[in-house]
Amino acid sequence: MAPSHTHASTDPLSLIDTYGCPLYVYDTAVMKRQYDKLFNAFDVQSLRLNYACKALTNINVLKYFKSLGAGLDTVSIQEVWLGKRAGFAPEDIIYTPNCVSLEEISLAVKEGVMINIDNISILEEFGQAFPDVPVCIRINPHIMAGGSSKISVGHIDSKFGISVHQIPLVERLVKAMGIRVVGVHMHTGSDILDAGVFLQGAEILFEVAAKFDQLEYIDFGSGFKVPYKEGGISTDIEDLGEQLSTRFNDFTESYGRELTLMFEPGKFLVSEAGKFYTRVNVVKQTTSTVFVGVDSGLNHFIRPMFYDAHHEIENVSRSGGKQRIYTVVGYICETDTFGVNRRLSEVQEGDILCFYNAGAYCSTMASNYNSRYRPAEVLIHEGRAHLIRERDEFDDLLRKQVILDTFG
Ligand SMILES: *Cc1c(COP(=O)(O)O)cnc(C)c1O
Repeated sequence: MAPSHTHASTDPLSLIDTYGCPLYVYDTAVMKRQYDKLFNAFDVQSLRLNYACKALTNINVLKYFKSLGAGLDTVSIQEVWLGKRAGFAPEDIIYTPNCVSLEEISLAVKEGVMINIDNISILEEFGQAFPDVPVCIRINPHIMAGGSSKISVGHIDSKFGISVHQIPLVERLVKAMGIRVVGVHMHTGSDILDAGVFLQGAEILFEVAAKFDQLEYIDFGSGFKVPYKEGGISTDIEDLGEQLSTRFNDFTESYGRELTLMFEPGKFLVSEAGKFYTRVNVVKQTTSTVFVGVDSGLNHFIRPMFYDAHHEIENVSRSGGKQRIYTVVGYICETDTFGVNRRLSEVQEGDILCFYNAGAYCSTMASNYNSRYRPAEVLIHEGRAHLIRERDEFDDLLRKQVILDTFG
């Protein structure tokens, strides 16, 4: 019999019994806590948080953020369609793609969503094709976060955004073609470590904003950092909120017109809301290391290998046991190390390990590599667990393959 799609217990071991292992489990209470925290940090007339749904794209999560009053930030036409399916009004969806064709942008125009342009040649083509459609301009402010630590997508060689040095050209095009610019945007993709660095970028955006007189909003993107380990760095939201609100209110006063302050957080809203559970297949002692090998790998949880991200790991089957040092690895035929020299309650084969901060960029980056199944996903809401994605089965691996007769 197929398992029921809701479950009265939210105990992870019981959920694994029902929905299989590995398993992603998300909690709406944490999403709401984060949404409220961000929303309440700003003191402005009009504030809008657009959930950057590439972090966690399950449609139930989109619907949940809509119920909290969020808008949606999308980076592909498919995410636009998902947002509409989730019930977002077109005007509450912003489409911020990079290096896509005018054809795809035209499809987004047809859906009536807000278009964010990040390339001058596209702006020119867009102005010709859609003279009456308002746009937002994505700026690359080229900010450097001091020293050698380059801010990752706002720097000089980045493919994102229109260089702030090209604004005179943008102004000329806008004027000549009668393009209506209703928003300016930046998303440096960097971690906002302190309000000071962020405000430096914000000043550049205000300077650009002052050059366009039909604005409705200023969008500061994201980069809000959450802690991934005890004592890890996180954005001081209250401090940033206070300083930016004051500056934003000053700006709107001098601009002479009310503007909406916008952000598009992904990680901040969902990272801590997710946990990923795996089962220990083997404990393997080599000459120098004790490996713990689990029933998952870079196919389900790639951030440690892709970004060198640190995710806390806990042995939930045996908390309070004797502490030992392990290197936790995956079962994929690649080097897929989750964590080196981790202190865990003494691990035995069959134990369940929990990986923290698994809400953002984990299931959405998962694949079927090694012909493994993608795990089920469960959403905990008001004390009940709901299945929101079924675990793959064998037929899913073949679903889009075309099997030729040629080879018998
Ligand atoms: C990915 C992305 C975001 C979200 O970034 P987080 O670090 O997850 O908050 C916001 N805006 C744009 C344009 C993005 O591409």
